Amino acid sequence: MNTSDILVIGGGIAGLSAAAALSRHARVTVLEAEAQIGFHSSGRSATMLHYALGDRLVRALTLASRDFFDSPPDGFSEVPLGCRMPVLIHAREDEREALDKLEAELSAFAALERLDARGVHELCPLLKQDALYGIADRNGIRLDPHALLQGNLRQLRARGGALHSGQRIAAIEHEGGVWTVTTEAGERFSSPIIVNAAGSWADAVARLAGVSPLGLEPKRRTIITFDAPHGTNLDALPFAKTIGDELYFAPETGRLFASPMDEVPSEPCDAQPEELEVALAAYRIEERTIVKVGRIHSRWAGLRTFTPDKHPAVGFAAGVEGFFWLAGQGGFGLQTSPAMASIVESLIVGTPWAVPDVAPGALLARRFLS
Ligand SMILES: Cc1cc2nc3c(=O)[nH]c(=O)nc-3n(C[C@H](O)[C@H](O)[C@H](O)COP(=O)(O)OP(=O)(O)OC[C@H]3O[C@@H](n4cnc5c(N)ncnc54)[C@H](O)[C@@H]3O)c2cc1C
Repeated sequence: MNTSDILVIGGGIAGLSAAAALSRHARVTVLEAEAQIGFHSSGRSATMLHYALGDRLVRALTLASRDFFDSPPDGFSEVPLGCRMPVLIHAREDEREALDKLEAELSAFAALERLDARGVHELCPLLKQDALYGIADRNGIRLDPHALLQGNLRQLRARGGALHSGQRIAAIEHEGGVWTVTTEAGERFSSPIIVNAAGSWADAVARLAGVSPLGLEPKRRTIITFDAPHGTNLDALPFAKTIGDELYFAPETGRLFASPMDEVPSEPCDAQPEELEVALAAYRIEERTIVKVGRIHSRWAGLRTFTPDKHPAVGFAAGVEGFFWLAGQGGFGLQTSPAMASIVESLIVGTPWAVPDVAPGALLARRFLS
């Protein structure tokens, strides 16, 4: 039997960043079902930090996370955790009002530039002429998820913590104040606290423990990559997003990537791209830009998992000793991970609350029980 102070279930960005933070105070073990960390959502994202994602609460968590990405702790990573990439939200004539509204909402979080049609096309020459208005945040960050995952793992290990990969949890028991989990391989791990950071499977893990599920909804999102027109200066392109949730695209290692921003309900699974959404991505690129999508070089899909109010859920489950939720990071789990990890640390260990603009009550998992 392997014992520790805290057992974290899930080796995605949520589990690993929380584990790294908690390992400052306790012996932490992470159990990951897959052979490699970040195999599911955390390794399939668009890897952006920008403020058009989510609402005010998500933006506050993102803002509180920025310093970590810009100046990670000493020894966290040998490479930068991301690089600057401008973010352009663009609108046609009929979408101008929505752009005005978003600009007002985002201006508390980012130094925005309002762009006319000329400014929009200077920043992103690939857009069609009907993109008449835009707002730009020159300080967006293209994150490096590999560096983030590995940095958290390195910190965990340096502080005496451990990761066991290829260990899918099959059973969870609670007796005498101790949780014991048994994996499909028959190994047993125990601790007084378990942190449920199982991403799309977090409700399934709760059921194994006899804890009421939160009603999490995994939703599939698809990304394709394809060639940019000959001569495009890819290095200068922004992450460009329609004001509505229809399309985003950005440069991706010598090509372009794009998503039709699909949100198809799914069971927790190893999500795969479907033809319909792949075709929709290509259609929307041709609808909004001058790019003709030829060969699709790669395609992938991942799950974004939401709570019923689309805010993350953290904290001890009501009436269940030692069962801690860390779920529902939706489409913003990378860019909010440093703030969420510090919140986990506050709630479990009692360190000061590090995100003054966010009231704990808005995040606590127990809000779904009332
Ligand atoms: C297409 C797409 C675009 C996105 N774009 C962005 C973006 O631009 N910016 C951003 O911040 N976020 C983005 N996201 C969201 C982000 O990827 C997620 O919010 C984040 O990765 C969630 O992390 P997680 O650790 O909760 O989940 P995961 O990475 O899925 O990790 C959960 C882990 O738990 C493990 N697990 C499950 N059940 C068990 C079990 N029984 N036993 C052991 N282990 C188990 C799984 O194997 C998995 O590795 C995007 C997501 C997608 C899919």
